[in-house]
Amino acid sequence: MSTEPLQLGYLNDDGPYEKFLTGPLKELYTERQVTNEPYGKDLEKLILDRVNGENDKCRQCTSDYQWLPGIKQGVNLYNETNWDYLRGYIIADLQFHVPGKVLQNQSDKQLNQTLRNIDYAILMDEMFDSKKDPYLNLSKQDWVCYDCLTELFRDTVLRWWLNRKRRDGVTIKEDCQYGYDCSQQTYSRGLEHAMRFNHLCEPTQREQGSQGAY
Ligand SMILES: [Zn+2]
Ligand SMILES: [Zn+2]
Repeated sequence: MSTEPLQLGYLNDDGPYEKFLTGPLKELYTERQVTNEPYGKDLEKLILDRVNGENDKCRQCTSDYQWLPGIKQGVNLYNETNWDYLRGYIIADLQFHVPGKVLQNQSDKQLNQTLRNIDYAILMDEMFDSKKDPYLNLSKQDWVCYDCLTELFRDTVLRWWLNRKRRDGVTIKEDCQYGYDCSQQTYSRGLEHAMRFNHLCEPTQREQGSQGAY
């Protein structure tokens, strides 16, 4: 067996547990006579003869995009069987995908809190129940890529939150014409306005002085 350190690309177990991961993998590497230094796709040869579904495509975009070199799209798809894997991955930055200024709304601070704490399998299940065009043909069993799920979230989150409020018996107020982009909803002196109108909606008017494009 070679005494050269095994180069495993992005797999790394330096530090106090050095070789905990790479040690056993190196034995397999020799045993299975992997000819090239395993990196990217070759890493699979250490433990797998073939990868089920690696050529599968996202049902929504059918993209070939590889999230890591040599790793095919087929192993980076999600459906209801693995939505819970998204925690700490997609949704660490979910808040950035909420449209407009809704997260700063003075009368509704629950959305942010809920997004931080919700079980992702439940979140995605409810997102799929609230989705609209262009996602209507997607089922919970369809395999969908990370990027399309992020877009689905962005396009659905306000409808989903409205549906939750209705489910909880909250009366939905009249839409504010500035919708999710309304600045007034964010000011503490705008609390009355924030309470009087619904902001979980598309803007129908552009605010004076706003640079926003819609
Ligand atoms: Zn996709
Ligand atoms: Zn408003």
